[in-house]
Amino acid sequence: MSRVAIYAASYADCQQAVRKAFEDFPLDVAGKRVLVKPNVLRRAEPEEGITTHPAVLQAVLRELEERGAGEIIVGDNPGGGGENREAFEASGLLAVAGRYYRNIGSDVREVPFSPRFGGKVVVSTAVLEADVVLSLPKLKTHGLTGLTCAIKNCYGYIPGRQKADLHVRAGNPYAFAEMLVDVFSIRVPDLYIVDAVLAMEGNGPVSRELRYVGRLLAARDGVALDRVVGEMMGIGYDMLRSVELAAERGLGVGDLDRIELLGDLQSLEGWRLPERFATEDPSALRAAMRTAHKRKLFLPKVDPARCSLCGNCVAECPAAALTMAEYPEVRPKACVTCYCCQELCPEKAIQLTEV
Ligand code: SF4
Ligand code: SF4
Repeated sequence: MSRVAIYAASYADCQQAVRKAFEDFPLDVAGKRVLVKPNVLRRAEPEEGITTHPAVLQAVLRELEERGAGEIIVGDNPGGGGENREAFEASGLLAVAGRYYRNIGSDVREVPFSPRFGGKVVVSTAVLEADVVLSLPKLKTHGLTGLTCAIKNCYGYIPGRQKADLHVRAGNPYAFAEMLVDVFSIRVPDLYIVDAVLAMEGNGPVSRELRYVGRLLAARDGVALDRVVGEMMGIGYDMLRSVELAAERGLGVGDLDRIELLGDLQSLEGWRLPERFATEDPSALRAAMRTAHKRKLFLPKVDPARCSLCGNCVAECPAAALTMAEYPEVRPKACVTCYCCQELCPEKAIQLTEV
């Protein structure tokens, strides 16, 4: 039996909920080296709802200090070519992390990885050497995986352009979900505290559609946590390949009957899913996810009214599928539907369009 807790919280007052999480899920941190990993997808302001809110990090750090953590490191590997520190600064997390902040992408080590995805991968040493990993995901939808929470937050173990290269190796959303589980299994976190105060719906993980949910979630089992979040969003087990596979591998519990809930599991009424998950029935979705690389069901499209011509998407596309004409244009045959361009566009000018 696994447990998932759902607490009412706001950013102005989340200390109480964070304290309750530490009480409900006791963790021995005294004298230990603790890595705290928020979701710093890219450079973004806290109000954009893309990154973990600094108020949650602040409350977590206070608990760790009071509980006598030996060494605290706050770090993540944002996507794109931007500076690690700049992304933390923009998100408000640097100011809160203070002396605990570390650019964990500057100290890395190669570890064995699934031969299917290259046989080896470079991971931040801080992840490998932590006694305790405390993950702070942001509750959001995700065009490839349905949702991003516990399992997906671990993709930040990997620094630099490797993340984009792995997207290309995976080739379709189904394989991408499996590769995510491989990364998750490198170091399964010990505790999760999810920022679901201001959450994201629609075409996440970088969408303009934010919703005030007013919750923090906590668990020691990330698989159970993602399963519960899927239930809240209206994404069934059969559509959550990463959760299903992680459960099959014994990395956590995916069966709702074996998950004890502390607090109320409220479905998010009218929650908007990414188009792909909203428009297809589960069996069609599974088939489409396996072959999306060839079928290109959803391709990125630039909205000229929003595009600032910064060139970021063209520079970061791992498949060189974008060219700068009057505005960036996608070459459908080259695109591997990784949606890195959508994630990294600072203007949120890229939409996923059914073709
Ligand atoms: S990243 Fe966004 S704003 Fe920049 S060129 Fe691409 S579409 Fe335009
Ligand atoms: S165009 Fe966008 S979705 Fe297609 S491969 Fe490039 S970054 Fe990925």
